[in-house]
Parts: sequence; structure tokens; C-alpha cells
Amino acid sequence: MTFVLVVEDDPAIVRTLTINLRARGYDVEAVGDGRSGLQAVDERPPDLVLLDLGLPDLDGVEVLRRMRAGSRVPVLVLTARHESDDKVEALDEGADDFVTKPFDMNELLARVRALLRRAGGSDEPLVVETEHFRLDVTERQATVGGEPAHLTPTEWQILEVLARHGGRLVRHQELLREVWGPAYARETNYLRVYMSQIRRKLEPDPGAPRYLLTDPGIGHRLRTT
Ligand code: CA
Repeated sequence: MTFVLVVEDDPAIVRTLTINLRARGYDVEAVGDGRSGLQAVDERPPDLVLLDLGLPDLDGVEVLRRMRAGSRVPVLVLTARHESDDKVEALDEGADDFVTKPFDMNELLARVRALLRRAGGSDEPLVVETEHFRLDVTERQATVGGEPAHLTPTEWQILEVLARHGGRLVRHQELLREVWGPAYARETNYLRVYMSQIRRKLEPDPGAPRYLLTDPGIGHRLRTT
């Protein structure tokens, strides 16, 4: 399980981050000051750190500097608008990316995924290629029969989750949680609607799907052969 360490002293932000990250299957630990953050990195190396720059004890940039002395863990910095000088300094000290508060949760999650992808050594774009269509999931570009096709952001999110599972079954609840969030885990009718939309766009015969398969009552998978 991917382990994300959150170093942030604002309880409301910690709560939002924790809920959203856990809902997407990340293991999350949150600490409220810089020293605890450094200690946590030593004790249990995270896969990614979300680091607030305005911490009560140490300056976030100083935390980053000390972290970087012993670790190459990807660090996504959270900054307030008035901290833009610190942001530049943080990037100099080896921050991998930053978001400015108040941030959009979907954007933050997209950056988290991008950093983890990079850190996983796979700069490889996520591409799905079949006899009938090609999906560059990373770049959000689709061609069907060689012609560009348009997919909506939600359709892409569904396809990304399925593609990441490489043909394995993804349960309805997991797919709903990842795409719509935890409150929607039972809304299987959403999936029915979107899967049929995607099939109409990608499948040669949408009524007899060859690639976007449903295991009734269980989940979906994306087959590429
Ligand atoms: Ca703060």
C-alpha cells in the first residue's frame, strides 16, 4: 500500500487530505509539526510527503532541507499564496512539485499520482492499445480506428483506473470510490451509464463488448486483446 506522510498543522486541511487520500486507497499518517515530520520519515520511510511550508516549529523549507539530507522521497509542497518566495526556495531545496492553498482536491490528487508514477521509475506513459483503439491515458488522448475521439474527464478517470489494473477485475465499489469519492461507493448505476457511454465510443460492437467487460454484480475490467 502506498504510504503518504502529511506534514501540516491546519487540522481542517489535514482532515480533508486524510479523508480523500484514504478513500483512494493510500495509507496516510499526519503530523502537525516539522520535527515530527522528520522523525516520521526516519521511522517509516514514506512513498510521498505532502509538506506544508508554514509549520509551527521549523520552517517548512528547513524541514525539506533536512529531509533531503537523507532521503529522495517525492515531496509535494503545500503553500499559502503569501509564501511564494518560500515556494521558490523549496523548489531549490528539492521539492518535486507544489500546490497553492486553497487547492483543488482533484488537482492535488492528480499531482500525487504523477509524482508517484515518476518515483516508481516509470516515466512510461500509461497507454492502452488494441486492434480498434488507442488510449494514451497519461496525455488523455484517444484514437478510434485511427481517428481522434473525445472522452469526458469522468470517462478518462474510469479508463485510467481500469488501465492501471492491467486487465484485472476492479470491483464496483473501488471504481466508484476512486472516480467519484467514498460517498458514491454504492452508486453502481453511475457505472452502468458511463460504461455504456465508453463502450459506444470505443467498442466496435457496443452491444457485445470485447474490451470493456462487466462481471455482473462484481466489477469491470479492461481487456486489450
Ligand atoms: Ca500551516
